[in-house]
Amino acid sequence: MQEQNDHHHPFVGDTFQRALEALNRCQDKSVVITAHRSPDGDALGSALGLCNHLKNMGFKEVLVMLPDGFPAFYQWMPGADEVVLFDKSTDAAKQILADAQFIFCLDFNALNRLGKEMEAAMQAVDAPVVMIDHHMHPTGFATWNFDDSSCGSTAELIYRWIQAAGQTSHLTPDTASCLYTGVMTDTGSFRFPSVSPATHRMVAQLLETGMSHADIHAAVYDSNRLDRLKLMGYALSEKLEVNQANACAMIVLTLEELNRYHAQSGDTEGLVNQALSIEGVNCAVFIREAKHGRVKLSLRSRGSFSVREVAEAHFNGGGHHNAAGGAVDGVTTEEVAALWRSLIPQYGPAMRASC
Ligand code: 5GP
Ligand code: MN
Repeated sequence: MQEQNDHHHPFVGDTFQRALEALNRCQDKSVVITAHRSPDGDALGSALGLCNHLKNMGFKEVLVMLPDGFPAFYQWMPGADEVVLFDKSTDAAKQILADAQFIFCLDFNALNRLGKEMEAAMQAVDAPVVMIDHHMHPTGFATWNFDDSSCGSTAELIYRWIQAAGQTSHLTPDTASCLYTGVMTDTGSFRFPSVSPATHRMVAQLLETGMSHADIHAAVYDSNRLDRLKLMGYALSEKLEVNQANACAMIVLTLEELNRYHAQSGDTEGLVNQALSIEGVNCAVFIREAKHGRVKLSLRSRGSFSVREVAEAHFNGGGHHNAAGGAVDGVTTEEVAALWRSLIPQYGPAMRASC
């Protein structure tokens, strides 16, 4: 029965064979692997994991292109220093996309997750596109779409692709480290319900390559700058607004506050989960001011209450049932906070009942 789990993935039948054959015709051609903007550990781990694997399989011109930069605590990942950033090298990146012969889109299912300019560049390409993702409601923009929202991470799906291609014996420690990072970060270090026996069997195989999981946990979770830790402390002691009656909590940070602690990309990662960890809180919202008049949201819930629905309905966002995000342009953090507060009466009963 458990073995079936290993075979429950989208890489079956003609669609997979056609995609794999098309890819294999591109060994000497330009293959581009992209992921969503503000890349997290899963976006990076999936993209770099697949890139390392394809290089190891003899692909000569494969690269990772991301819409924008990633947190410094992922810089150790094999291949991270060769990633092309669309926002930093826009002209070169556009040319690379135009010349690409094969494109992978990983860890997102709608092209607007690339940001306006890269979305437009992607819409103009005529290369075949493979999408591999684990979010709900895929838009089906690719030539071949492989999605499985029951899977905890895109990195696990990349492993399934490699497995379906019969190539797990070619996994290297570099590839395994990247995929492990993706699974680890998107499963809250293997504790979310999406983790299955098959996930652990995959991890066993990753560890058998000789990769060091302890080094990865240390690099990602135990390498805080003092400023970051103080920002977390400030947010939790001064900015946490708990609404016990409605089982929800909120943290709001302005750019001025983030700058006070010299915040860098990734510094607030995990903060919203701290708010959700409060006893009796079933929904947590983190609102932060970003650059260029944009306000970003991270939403988390436990149980039946769907933050994806909230993000989709009110914050131009989406994601998963218990972890979602969104963004609003041209507003202040206080306006977004006020909007969230105004929604509490509507969602309160569901948040209180969520378990
Ligand atoms: P985070 O809060 O960690 O940024 O994101 C949580 C989840 O929500 C992730 O699965 C991410 O892909 C999704 N998400 C975050 N921001 C957005 C957004 O602006 N649009 C959509 N559709 N999903 C988002
Ligand atoms: Mn993911």
